[in-house]
Amino acid sequence: MIQDLLVHPSGDLRADVCICGAGPAGIVLALELAKRRPDWRIVLLEGGGRTVESERDRALYEVEMGEKSYAVAASRRRMLGGTTAHWGGWSKPLEPTDFTSPAHWSAPDWPVTLDDLEPYLAGAHRWCEIPSDGYDPALVRARHPQRFLQLPADSGVTEHLFRFSPPTRFGTRYAADLEAQENLTCLLHANVRALERRADRIVSVSAIPLGGRAFTVHAERFVLAQGGLENTRSLLNLRGDAPDDGIGLHSPHLGRFFADHYGVRPGLVLAPSELGYLRWSDQGVAVMPVLTPSSDWLHEKGRQSLCMMLDPTPTAESLPGGYAGQAALGFSAGEYWNYNVQMVVEPRPSAESRITLTDQRCELGLRRARLDWHLHDEDVGTALEFFDAFGAMLARSGQGRIRQTYDIAQARRATTTGANHHMGTIRFSKNPEDGVTDADGRVHDMDNLYVAGSALFPRYGYSNPTLTIVALAIRLAERWAGAPQELPA
Ligand SMILES: Cc1cc2nc3c(=O)[nH]c(=O)nc-3n(C[C@H](O)[C@H](O)[C@H](O)COP(=O)(O)OP(=O)(O)OC[C@H]3O[C@@H](n4cnc5c(N)ncnc54)[C@H](O)[C@@H]3O)c2cc1C
Repeated sequence: MIQDLLVHPSGDLRADVCICGAGPAGIVLALELAKRRPDWRIVLLEGGGRTVESERDRALYEVEMGEKSYAVAASRRRMLGGTTAHWGGWSKPLEPTDFTSPAHWSAPDWPVTLDDLEPYLAGAHRWCEIPSDGYDPALVRARHPQRFLQLPADSGVTEHLFRFSPPTRFGTRYAADLEAQENLTCLLHANVRALERRADRIVSVSAIPLGGRAFTVHAERFVLAQGGLENTRSLLNLRGDAPDDGIGLHSPHLGRFFADHYGVRPGLVLAPSELGYLRWSDQGVAVMPVLTPSSDWLHEKGRQSLCMMLDPTPTAESLPGGYAGQAALGFSAGEYWNYNVQMVVEPRPSAESRITLTDQRCELGLRRARLDWHLHDEDVGTALEFFDAFGAMLARSGQGRIRQTYDIAQARRATTTGANHHMGTIRFSKNPEDGVTDADGRVHDMDNLYVAGSALFPRYGYSNPTLTIVALAIRLAERWAGAPQELPA
């Protein structure tokens, strides 16, 4: 059932599980639990409604920015379905190398491996309506060899593949399922404003429609699924002025290691025409092969992960001036194109990139968040180093040339731009000393408080996060409620 509190106010409620936030993490967890356990009552509290939030709603999300601004205002939605109301649908599981961190990083390994997530990926693809869960680029290469470069085995350069969700708008796509599920109550305009704690348990949450009457939900378990920034802000508000030198809620890691995938445009590539390292359609299905460092290159260098796309420029038919001398090398116009390079880069986890609280409060009475995101020269350095390695491979194999146009000094001054993926600030860890929650997202020093979403990721890879967020939500449902009785059609 879905109930809009602006139309039908709610009294106090009792539930087995109370989930705060109805983005993909909250919706998938709620429906997976409700279908697996018809004897459980699930309450899903969503701060927004069915349509785009009002200015008053949006004001609840206001964040104070640190030294460098970051376009956070457009990076999330406050409505049923959460930020999938305007996500792009780019999807890809993480790579095996993304689950461990080089020894010299200040990041623990993931407490789960790709093998642990594997059983839930097929379900995550169904929820995100991605037509295939095959990610071997060799399948596409075999059908379209002319769209790929020849990559010598020892070049340090390899390929991976993205797939795409339509993109699924979780709020509209799954509204009928939420409506039909008898043991699930989804309340709209239910803004969670406080969690009541007794010792190591949360006993209830207080929620309120703006300008309306507050009510309380008592439950056995509570899950914060409010997106990376709000989950962190909620936990910091719950900690209040208590010290941050302990475990779980009191962990010094809470709020630290904020990261987003960031874009670097290192330069131009001259290479054979019609390469397909960008989104295109293979047999009617959208695919995007990308160029990446090999796992050996990453391991040897102890560097961040990244991927590279090649975007033909409007002057694709003719060699630009800078390459004129190279025509003699056989790079003739028409057979060779000029490509702009776009990279998506994983930042190295950094403790000084963090969310803290200010003394300002929002209408709900919660202290506002301040976000400081620092990129370091090494983050960009990895991108440029790989671009050089790629250029060397192209030159050695006679397939083309690169031209680096990136100005690192200018980039240092510029605004930081990201892909709207809010990761790292509630990282999960095997050892309580290394993170904030355990492998299930349970806050280490709390008995019944859980977190869902990408704030859990201790390192980030370059893959977009939502597929993994959904896989983790299904995994949590299975750990609590056992095998599925019915999956989404
Ligand atoms: C422009 C854009 C493009 C993107 N493209 C991609 C992409 O191509 N691929 C990809 O994988 N990811 C993409 N993302 C990121 C993706 O949208 C997020 O990873 C995903 O939505 C996170 O899911 P979530 O459920 O954790 O949080 P959200 O989707 O943010 O949902 C959180 C929910 O909690 C609610 N909420 C918050 N606070 C409260 C409160 N106090 N009380 C009650 N409810 C509350 C919100 O209203 C919201 O509905 C993109 C994001 C943006 C902005």
